[in-house]
Amino acid sequence: MFEYANVKKIPRGISEAESFGSSVHNCLKRWGELEMEIGRRALGVGQDQMVLFDKTSHEYNDDNPDPLHPTPNTLLEFWHQSFIINTYASRVEADFARERGERLMEQFYAWSHLRSSSFGGQGSGEVWKVIAVEKSFSIDVNGSVLKGRFDRVESDGDSIRVIDFKTSPPRSQDQVDADLQLSIYAMAIEEIYKQPCGELMFLFLSDEGVVERSTTRSENQLNDARKQIKTIEDNMDSKDFHPTPSAGVCRCCPYKGVCDVAAA
Ligand code: SF4
Repeated sequence: MFEYANVKKIPRGISEAESFGSSVHNCLKRWGELEMEIGRRALGVGQDQMVLFDKTSHEYNDDNPDPLHPTPNTLLEFWHQSFIINTYASRVEADFARERGERLMEQFYAWSHLRSSSFGGQGSGEVWKVIAVEKSFSIDVNGSVLKGRFDRVESDGDSIRVIDFKTSPPRSQDQVDADLQLSIYAMAIEEIYKQPCGELMFLFLSDEGVVERSTTRSENQLNDARKQIKTIEDNMDSKDFHPTPSAGVCRCCPYKGVCDVAAA
């Protein structure tokens, strides 16, 4: 994929799976920004002033919902506004994807409502707050620049965790424990926030429901990841782009139509 995109520079379209994933990420970016705004308002105003944002002090109704008391409909509205429609082969497929997204967002709302202090901390009583969404980073690893973006960064005041959204089927715990993307996130958190990353999480949003897979990285594991990155860099320098097809990766690859070894 790297060779097609960056060496042969073959123009690429966007697959339906990528398009759906982008729609979900756009929607959850807006949701995370809303959570941050609610957190800022709660910190920035006193109890007396909070009444200004109290649902009972406004003429809010279904047609004019209170933006600071989001409901499942708020998230569904974000979803419809974020849905990228023009990548689907037909209207029927687009409608199918849009309705699938509605189900995923309903499941995400239930997950979020249970755990987020932004919405009253119901359920788990956790105190994690969103501190960044879709945050870009650029770090130095082995003298090379690695760029990436966190989907969502949370803090409980002491520790930081990163949540990465996936619309693919859940991976096993072993796969998540060995995932290089999460290791790079751990390095980036250390560099940006000047503290170790307390938790790394893939949040799988799929037809199986919301599945959390959490992991951590020790300093030894991060050193192993740096060696792995060095090996990849060496392969790139020697133009070794030996493909490693797998159904999970090739399914979303924009070059699967021109690749001789694409996995079915
Ligand atoms: S189809 Fe699979 S093997 Fe081929 S370039 Fe894409 S990811 Fe690599």
